[in-house]
Amino acid sequence: MQHPFLLTPEQYRAILALCRAMIPPGERIPGAGPQTVIRLMAFMEDLGDAGSRIMSQAVVALDWAAVLYAGKRFHALDADRQDELLSTWEQSSTLRWPLFVLGNLIKVAHFDSTELFGAYGVDWPKGGPPEPARWLSQVECGEQWEDDEEIECDAVVVGTGPGGAIVGKELAEQGHAVVFLEEGKLYRRDAFTGSALQATRHFYRGHGMVASLGNAVVPVLMGRLVGGSTAINTGTCFRTPPWILDEWCERQNSDELSTENMARHFERVEQELDIRPNDDKTIGPMGGIVARGADKLGWSHFKIARNAPDCDGQGCCDWGCPSGARKSMDVSYIPKALARGAVLFTETKATRVVVENGRAVGVVGESVTQKRRVRVRAKVVVLAGGAVPTPVMLLGQGLGNRSGELGRNLSIHPGVPASALFDEPVEVYKYIPQGVGVDQFHRDGILLVGVGLDINMAPNAFPGYGRRLTEFMDQYDRVATLGVLAKDSTQNGRVRVGPGGSPLITYWLQKQDLHRIREGTARIMELFLAAGARHCYPMGHAMPLVKNMDDLARYRQRNVRASDWTWTVFHPLGTAQMGHDPNTSVVSFDHETHDVQNLFLVDGSTVPGPTAVNPQLTIMAMANRAAERIGQRLE
Ligand SMILES: Cc1cc2nc3c(=O)[nH]c(=O)nc-3n(C[C@H](O)[C@H](O)[C@H](O)COP(=O)(O)OP(=O)(O)OC[C@H]3O[C@@H](n4cnc5c(N)ncnc54)[C@H](O)[C@@H]3O)c2cc1C
Repeated sequence: MQHPFLLTPEQYRAILALCRAMIPPGERIPGAGPQTVIRLMAFMEDLGDAGSRIMSQAVVALDWAAVLYAGKRFHALDADRQDELLSTWEQSSTLRWPLFVLGNLIKVAHFDSTELFGAYGVDWPKGGPPEPARWLSQVECGEQWEDDEEIECDAVVVGTGPGGAIVGKELAEQGHAVVFLEEGKLYRRDAFTGSALQATRHFYRGHGMVASLGNAVVPVLMGRLVGGSTAINTGTCFRTPPWILDEWCERQNSDELSTENMARHFERVEQELDIRPNDDKTIGPMGGIVARGADKLGWSHFKIARNAPDCDGQGCCDWGCPSGARKSMDVSYIPKALARGAVLFTETKATRVVVENGRAVGVVGESVTQKRRVRVRAKVVVLAGGAVPTPVMLLGQGLGNRSGELGRNLSIHPGVPASALFDEPVEVYKYIPQGVGVDQFHRDGILLVGVGLDINMAPNAFPGYGRRLTEFMDQYDRVATLGVLAKDSTQNGRVRVGPGGSPLITYWLQKQDLHRIREGTARIMELFLAAGARHCYPMGHAMPLVKNMDDLARYRQRNVRASDWTWTVFHPLGTAQMGHDPNTSVVSFDHETHDVQNLFLVDGSTVPGPTAVNPQLTIMAMANRAAERIGQRLE
């Protein structure tokens, strides 16, 4: 076997040994080997120098740790000693991190394969035929420009997630000339194959490696493609709970976002996207398990609503929908905007807002690799890049921050899952990931929602390595998982401009957040035990299995630290607060920045705080409302 390039023979030996020890062969799953290393290296190549450096440092750290702990390099140890070391390192506060970084990369590289999916009787890769190219004449790729471009329009919209797509489409339908700039590519259906590696490489911002720093490293996932994060999300749709809207109204001293005032905006979007509760066919056995456990305990549970009425339940929503049934922005609002004459520039990053006499009059964009420029002159500028990119762009230019609040007040909805082994088949990977939920503890800031982890994602949620991981994955067809979506107890997060213009995100998980997570995961395990689980996996580092109520009582008494769990978050919100006062808020209730006239922010940044539910429908309803206000400005 030839060493994959980029690696010295010594590095190759070390990585191969770590791969084999982290994922030994089981009864069902094949063990990691040279093919895993090859897939891993292909992924690292895309991550560039920084990614490769981080991976090499993790390998070196673990290889030398083996010398310190066992007197030999990792590859020279026998399999039992290697397995023991992996368990020991998982409990070490320093070695846990290189193990986590390298382990996650190895897990995805190994499980993202036809052979592994085949072991569970699932066809892979997926991917549907490309949809009809009806409005493609309205789409231009920035990379294909021969020269710089100048364009004039009524509204230029930066970003095609729910914020941008909805404003753009509504303005286009009102008869305004709309130009979208989108940093990511337009992908057709055949690109969505269910591959975690392909998806993180191509569809996720920063290859899925953007993270917040604080008392834990928390990956913050966001899309970077036409449709924004809606093109890679689970499709779950909740209206903002009335008690959250009440909280905002009280805090903002305004009823602009009251339940009553927002109702018609929710209705409009729900009709447009055909949002309705999931059916039993796509929910699968998880529905029965949750109902059985919750009913026994007398807890309130429900079928989640989604924007995917004709979904065939392939279960790989977060890697992009192969059938196009999920009405993400790239298959709903964007085509409608294009049909009404809007123009979309893809692979074009807006770099600067053009301001003249205190008014925004356009944006400058650049094609992402060629650096060809486009200048779009417009009567209004709408920034909709998301709660992280939007403040980074404005702060980088020194705009919109007279209040000092831009980039502050970030909330993320901290969340972790808990799983359980059942005697019956569950096969979550054959159904939609988020079919059902439990809202019994919602007013305490804890919502429990389905987490149907695909075969190439489940190993990453499982916090262990070696034989424990193999045993978990061997039985994965009988594993059920729910996740805690916690309402942040504070909005202490902050987005700043980091090195090279990249986002620098900080967020500190508070005691109350950790208690919510511990209590939420305990409630999940209580439900699973009531439903007849053999045992539960708390999914925290080095946490023992929970087999009965005594174990659960012990789990509830644990001292909890942020580093006890592996975090991933999907809902950055709140970095451009809305309000009347220019000294304490960034935008007015019309979404216009206090500092620059005709500059509007419409995305997750303007959502006032944690929604305590998945937030896309909130962003969509707010965008629908914003489009009315911006439309009035253009009259
Ligand atoms: C994996 C995943 C699963 C999720 N599941 C759900 C779910 O089931 N239900 C739910 O309610 N929410 C879910 N969410 C969250 C939801 O998708 C987001 O809250 C929502 O899409 C955010 O909308 P947005 O308009 O703020 O930004 P985004 O949707 O992130 O869109 C912003 C777009 O702007 C582009 N952009 C940014 N900067 C620039 C620039 N300078 N120039 C040009 N373009 C730029 C980006 O490339 C991106 O395409 C999920 C998120 C993820 C990542």
